Amino acid sequence: MDIRNGLVEAVGNTPLIKLKRASEATGCTILGKAEFLNPGQSVKDRAALFIIQDAVARGQLKPGGVIVEGTAGNTGIGLALVGNALGFRSVIVIPDTQSQEKKDMLRLAGATLVEVPAVAYANPNNYVKVSGRLAEALAATEPNGAVWANQFDNVANRQAHIETTGPEIWAQTNGKVDGFVAAVGTGGTLAGTAIALKARNPAIRIALADPFGASLYSYYTTGELKAEGSSITEGIGQGRITANLEGAPIDTAYQIPDAEAVQIVFDLLEHEGLCLGGSTGINVAGAIRLAKELGPGHTIVTVLCDYGTRYQSKLFNPDFLREKGLPVPGWLERSVDVPN
Ligand code: PMP
Repeated sequence: MDIRNGLVEAVGNTPLIKLKRASEATGCTILGKAEFLNPGQSVKDRAALFIIQDAVARGQLKPGGVIVEGTAGNTGIGLALVGNALGFRSVIVIPDTQSQEKKDMLRLAGATLVEVPAVAYANPNNYVKVSGRLAEALAATEPNGAVWANQFDNVANRQAHIETTGPEIWAQTNGKVDGFVAAVGTGGTLAGTAIALKARNPAIRIALADPFGASLYSYYTTGELKAEGSSITEGIGQGRITANLEGAPIDTAYQIPDAEAVQIVFDLLEHEGLCLGGSTGINVAGAIRLAKELGPGHTIVTVLCDYGTRYQSKLFNPDFLREKGLPVPGWLERSVDVPN
């Protein structure tokens, strides 16, 4: 028998999918951890589950209590769904720049949504800071209390990847893994997986794939937090060293232009049937760079972060793509004449 006892046990244990074109282009085996197959369709279900379980274990989250979080969307979706399964409500603060599809999903999952203007972290009205203040206020007024998930600086987030993602990758490859690459939102995925893999084999090379507009590429190559440009990708792009990133064993970093990342997303869909979001394009571009650095014959793992329908109105919208000066995949506008 293979039965999962509820949604909680359906999180994780995702397959590793060999990416054909990336592997062929590099002579390496490039594998994608299929996180879009989690119940909430993203890698963030793992962090959401660990954050909730940790808050319960500490006695901070009580039955019927409220989970409050600031999120680009995926963590909120995970928290809302896991919350429903375990008997907690969720209140989610989201920057208004995030895709309509993620906001719709949050509402239908029962989260109370607070949309705020997207402003820098230094601004007191940044979504993360608003969510912290809101959690404090609700803790005092909600009958069963409220907790702040605080995914950026709550290391229960990276613990999820230390205990699950990393060991799964090690077991699935029989320890035959030479490199791991991921982009960073909170840093939980990259840091946690890196810590778990390095503990098993310190020679495994760990790379950060950063979009433009983020400061970490500069930090890990020059020691200075500095950003240039911008990106249409969502859920990634960090400007500071979060608690989850602190001490992460990162060996190298790449900066990936959007044009390169979105072309990879389109190719994965057109040629391999994999429908994924923009951050996956950044990750696979990073995996290709690491493969070229290591040379043929190596095995590199990256993360297929979330499902592409979440970005239909942007990444798969010809008008949006044209406006951003990005390539438009032909099939989005393809039609056929039906004979009378
Ligand atoms: N990709 C997407 C689509 C995400 O939503 C996130 C999380 N914000 C990430 C990648 C990065 O994950 P992490 O927070 O673990 O760095």
